[in-house]
Amino acid sequence: MTFREREKEVYRMASEDHGVLYELLAARGVTRRDFLKWCGATATLLGLSESVVPRIAAAVESAALMPQAPALWINGGACSGCTESMAQSDSPDVATVVLDLLSINYFETIMMAQGEDAEEAKTDTIADGGYICIYEGSVMRGFDGNVLRVAGKPQLEELPDLFGNAAAIISVGSCAVDGGWVAARPNPADATGVKQFCDDNGISTPVINLPTCPVNPEWVTAMVVDVLLLGELESGAILDKLDDFGRPRLIFGQTIHDNCPRRGHFENGEFVYEFGTEEEAKGFCLYAVGCKGPQTFTNCPIVRWNRRASWCVESGSPCIGCGTAGYQEGMNWVDQGAPFLNRHRDLPIGEDTTVQPTTIGWIAGAAVGGVLVAHGIGMKAAGRMDGGADYEEMKEHDRRKGGGK
Ligand code: SF4
Repeated sequence: MTFREREKEVYRMASEDHGVLYELLAARGVTRRDFLKWCGATATLLGLSESVVPRIAAAVESAALMPQAPALWINGGACSGCTESMAQSDSPDVATVVLDLLSINYFETIMMAQGEDAEEAKTDTIADGGYICIYEGSVMRGFDGNVLRVAGKPQLEELPDLFGNAAAIISVGSCAVDGGWVAARPNPADATGVKQFCDDNGISTPVINLPTCPVNPEWVTAMVVDVLLLGELESGAILDKLDDFGRPRLIFGQTIHDNCPRRGHFENGEFVYEFGTEEEAKGFCLYAVGCKGPQTFTNCPIVRWNRRASWCVESGSPCIGCGTAGYQEGMNWVDQGAPFLNRHRDLPIGEDTTVQPTTIGWIAGAAVGGVLVAHGIGMKAAGRMDGGADYEEMKEHDRRKGGGK
């Protein structure tokens, strides 16, 4: 059987049955074909062969019809950009619809329930345990947690139970991973990421980190499918798929630069040095205007955003490195990457001051230049430059010492 025949066979098997699921999807504007394509893409993201497509379809159906492992989507200190990335208010993609079909008992930003009803759904789920906790935004520790109050109390108070009772935590977006923008220097709200909070409080729940700002919906659903539906959590296989920063290696294993469509221009030394120029119009490489693609590990150029329409570099912006996770030299990706349109990050001087290496270079260059000019003026004034060294008059000092010519 050829690969194409095998693929057709897999999709035929996956198309059989699941009638109820397809009706549910159709009601949300998702065709059977779109759904099967999403199953195939999810299998690829998880590093599985196409043969698991029927398994993914069956797992989504059973989870949609008989939710057993609920999920909570909790917002910490966040701009809700990750929620927006998932929801895409005009026409949600298949990933969003599938996530919606799973049992999300609490989704603060977009849920219908409000007030005590909403809180009850959350607290009951936390008490029962065994759920997937999807956490968006930073953990806000500042001012005894009072920088983020939910339902009349600091969110910080419920986090030990929320994280501790979960079967797994998926940290969505850079803020949940290492504090992101919210934790950028000088971090007045004492924000941090979920994993750091868990480590500090002795919570051992597995944490899957999905950085970027915002998160890609396809990654979230792929992880939910992996954890919730394919039993990778029980077997522990999911942990073997994570890198040192808790990121799935299949998603965060290659640099943006490796797969960038502008890479040919980089190799040819064709760069954009200024926006609004001919070089920019020609789609040259954005390295010289600060692109962090060479040091940022994600598969953005392959998966893209907004129903795979485009992504940052393709739409003309340099990569700002938001897929970077963790603290290096005490700084997260915002501190390391800013200012984003410069090749170098700011260097901290003391507590509150930062300076660009380029600026230091200019100052040092100007200082050296100034010294040379002053030296030249001094030489001229002393007469040491007149006529050049060979014709230089003997100076009084040399004469007294009996040296010189
Ligand atoms: Fe690499 Fe960025 Fe240039 Fe793309 S635009 S080739 S990621 S440096």
